Amino acid sequence: MNVPSNKITVRFAPSPTGLLHVGNARTAIVNALFARKMGGRFLLRIDDTDAARSTKAFEEGIFRDLEWLGVKHDLSDRQMNRLKVYSTAFYQLQAAGRMYPCFENEAELERQRSLARAMKKPPIYDRSALKLTDAQRTQYESEGRAPHWRFKLSRQKVRWNDLIRGPVEIDTATMSDPVLVREDGAFLYTLPSVADDVDFAISHIIRGEDHVTNTAAQIEIFEALGAKPPQFAHHPLLVGSGGEALSKRLGSLSLESLRQDGIEPMAVAAYLAKIGTSDAIEPRLTLDELAREFDFAKIGRAPAHFDSEELNMLNARTLHLLPYDAARLQPLGISESLWQAIRPNLSRIGDAAILAQLVTGPVTPVIEDAGLAAKAAALLPPEPWDETTWGAWTAAVAAQTGAKGRGLFHPLRLALTGRGDGPELKKLLPLIGRTKALARLEGKTA
Ligand code: GLU
Repeated sequence: MNVPSNKITVRFAPSPTGLLHVGNARTAIVNALFARKMGGRFLLRIDDTDAARSTKAFEEGIFRDLEWLGVKHDLSDRQMNRLKVYSTAFYQLQAAGRMYPCFENEAELERQRSLARAMKKPPIYDRSALKLTDAQRTQYESEGRAPHWRFKLSRQKVRWNDLIRGPVEIDTATMSDPVLVREDGAFLYTLPSVADDVDFAISHIIRGEDHVTNTAAQIEIFEALGAKPPQFAHHPLLVGSGGEALSKRLGSLSLESLRQDGIEPMAVAAYLAKIGTSDAIEPRLTLDELAREFDFAKIGRAPAHFDSEELNMLNARTLHLLPYDAARLQPLGISESLWQAIRPNLSRIGDAAILAQLVTGPVTPVIEDAGLAAKAAALLPPEPWDETTWGAWTAAVAAQTGAKGRGLFHPLRLALTGRGDGPELKKLLPLIGRTKALARLEGKTA
C-alpha cells in the first residue's frame, strides 16, 4: 500500500452486518470532522471478515448512507480483498513466537469459564494449549481437529494517552489471549484490523469505548508486527434519553429510517457532532463548519444521550436556516420567495409541499365573518404587491370595520389560506396575488 506515512489518516470501519445507525454514524462523523479539520485522509474500510453475517446489500447501504450524510472517503477497501495481507501478518506473529494453536471446542471453553466463575476467578483463558506436547497436538490433528490460533499477550501493562480518555493503562494479564484465527481458518476482526491500520498508515484510530480492551491487545499486536501503534481516541457510547442501551431501537435509529422520515442529513450530522460535547446543540449547514469547531477536548467522558425529540427540534431549526436549493425545491413547485415564506414554519421538508399549496392552491377558504371578508375584498389594493401590502391593507380594513388583533387577522387568515395557522401572511399575500386573494375572500376555491 502506498500511503504517505506522515499524513493524518483515519478510518471508519463498519461491518456490513446491518444498517448504519446513529451510534456508528457518530463514529463516522467524528472521524470525518477530525480528518477535515487536520487536512487528513479518510479511509472507509468494510470489515467483512464475518462471512456468515456480512452482506453486499448492507455494504451498499453503508456507502449510500455515508453519501447522504455528506461523509466522503478518500479511499475505501474491504477486508475480504486483503486476506493475503492478514496471512503475512499471521506468519510474522507466528515467527515471533506470539501465536499458539488451541484445540478446545466451545463446550470445553465454556466449562473452563464456569469453573473459573464458580471459584470467583475472572474467566480468563488458562493457556492450557501452551502445555500441549507435540505428540498431543499431532494426536488432535489426526483426529481431524483443526486448531484455532491465539495471540500470546505479554501479561504486562499496556499504556496509551487516549485523546479523549487521557492516560489509559490496561494490564493484559486481566484478559484472555485473543483468538485471531478460527478453526476453519477464518480471520476474526482483531488481526485484520491491525494489519490494515499498519498497511494504510492509519495515524489515529477513533472509535467507541467498547473497543478500549481491544486496544490493549491490538497495541501488543502492532508492536509484535514491528509497527508503531497509532494514536487512539475512544468516545463514550450513545445511549437513549433515559440512559438505556440503544441496541433495541437500532432499526428505528438507522440512517435509512431517519432519511425516510424526512430528517435533514445536516441535522443528523450536527446532532451527532455535538451530543456529548461541551458545545451547544445548534444547527450547522456544512460539515466544514462542524470540522472547524471540532476538538477532542470538547468530548465528555459520560455517555451521550440520544433523544429523537431533540433531533426533531434540530431538524426544524436546520430547515429554518436552509438556503433555497433549486434542484430540490423547483420540482416541488417551490420558488425562492415561497421558500423564504414557508421555511420558518417547517419541521420536516415534506411539509414544504403542503405549505406551498396555501399559495398555489387550490385553497377552500373558510369564511368566518362574511361582512368583514367582503369589506376586506373591496379594500384590496391594486398590484404590484410586496411585503408591505399586508400591513397597509389590514390597517385600512381595521379603520373601516373597527376589527383589530385576532378578530381581524384570524378571519382573514382563514379566508386566504383555509387554515387557522401557517406562515406569516405579509410574506404569503404577495405570493398568493390579487386574483386568488380576491376569489378566496369571496368564498371561492382558488
Ligand atoms: N468493525 C469494527 C466495528 O464495527 C471496527 C472497530 C474498529 O474501529 O476498529 O466495531
